[in-house]
Amino acid sequence: MLTKKILKTILNVKHTAIDDMKILPDGAIAIKVHPTKGEQCRCGICGRKAVRYDHGRGTRSWRACDWNTHKVYLVADMSRVMCPEHGVVTASVPWARHNSRFTKEFEELATWLSLSCTKTAVASLLRISWNTIGPIISRMRAELDANPAARFEGLVRIGVDETSYKKGHKYITVVINHDTGKVIWAHEGHGKTIFTKFFKLLTKEQVANIQIVSGDGAKWIQECINDFCPVAKRCIDPFHVVQWATEALDEVRRLAWRDALKNTKDMPQKKRGRPKKEAPRKDTTAKDLKGSRFALGKAPEHLTKKQQAQLEFIAKTDSRLYRAYLLKEKLRLVFQCEDAATAKEELDGWIKWAQHCRIQVFVELQRKIRRHYDAILATMEHHLSNAVLEATNRKIKLSVYMAYGFRNIDNMIDMIMLRCSDIDVRLPWEYVAA
Ligand SMILES: [Zn+2]
Repeated sequence: MLTKKILKTILNVKHTAIDDMKILPDGAIAIKVHPTKGEQCRCGICGRKAVRYDHGRGTRSWRACDWNTHKVYLVADMSRVMCPEHGVVTASVPWARHNSRFTKEFEELATWLSLSCTKTAVASLLRISWNTIGPIISRMRAELDANPAARFEGLVRIGVDETSYKKGHKYITVVINHDTGKVIWAHEGHGKTIFTKFFKLLTKEQVANIQIVSGDGAKWIQECINDFCPVAKRCIDPFHVVQWATEALDEVRRLAWRDALKNTKDMPQKKRGRPKKEAPRKDTTAKDLKGSRFALGKAPEHLTKKQQAQLEFIAKTDSRLYRAYLLKEKLRLVFQCEDAATAKEELDGWIKWAQHCRIQVFVELQRKIRRHYDAILATMEHHLSNAVLEATNRKIKLSVYMAYGFRNIDNMIDMIMLRCSDIDVRLPWEYVAA
């Protein structure tokens, strides 16, 4: 009797009676259990009492949290019930969620771990495959996120962003609330049709309350604003603008590298033996430029000594590339201005400079910036912090990357919501304490 009581405490199960326990040949521990009388014959979906239908697939086992190095399984005879609402379904069990082969506690632990650790760490520690985590994540989200529509209450400043995965073949659209920095909605696909779906979930009052919609330079964002909330201001996420400049700079760097490579090839072939003193040295410009991508992309305050040296080298040898670098830096600093008036001044100055910089890609970038001029200024006026936006964006991208192995897109979206929204994911013992 006492042993059973201790067993129940360790397993942390309620409404469960323990029948028997044995150690299997592979060292795993199997514990035979059954639901207490009041919990028998309940519908697995709604939990209401129902009439017993048949034995279903007979005995089943559920993986529980390990005891030291031993795997632990709960084993029980399962039956199916006839629910007036859901038809013939597997009966519910108090220790596991519907259609799961793991105990509730195991799923809570697996979810917490998979949001904090790498795939390999989770899979090796729990001794399950990463694919199995997907459905666990979805069951946990369904339980913890009972009322997703509550996130649409009181929205004022929102941002929309699309993230590509599978090498750019698939997209996920994510909407965030700028005032909380949390994700409020995520959906497969991108473009106007998807963003429209978001607006259709909102009530008229909720849509009317929205004052700011931010995103990248995509046309469909403006089209959706026009269709649904024409009074809202269109803003542009600063990190997208900086990204455009970084891409333009990279283009200039590639051209410089190609020219340098051509110069190297045009040099006379090295003859055998020790070169004479007056012989021209090998031109290593191409090699140096190739390795300079990170030095050019980084903010100057974060450069390593080696990267600083690379920049100094570029400043001395390639004035065009160095000018492109300065243009990118100046544009980045526009978004760090304290007040909107200074930012406008700086932006106008930048546009003038870029117009006459004689670097084709930056002249084109300048045209693009002018097209989005109002949206950029609105961003500055409404103090959308680039640091916060960028951090959220990075977190979403990391979540997409972490959920990459899931076969099911819904699992991926649930993973994003659990990691980046306001859902409170806890460790199993924290749920017990609450
Ligand atoms: Zn039911």
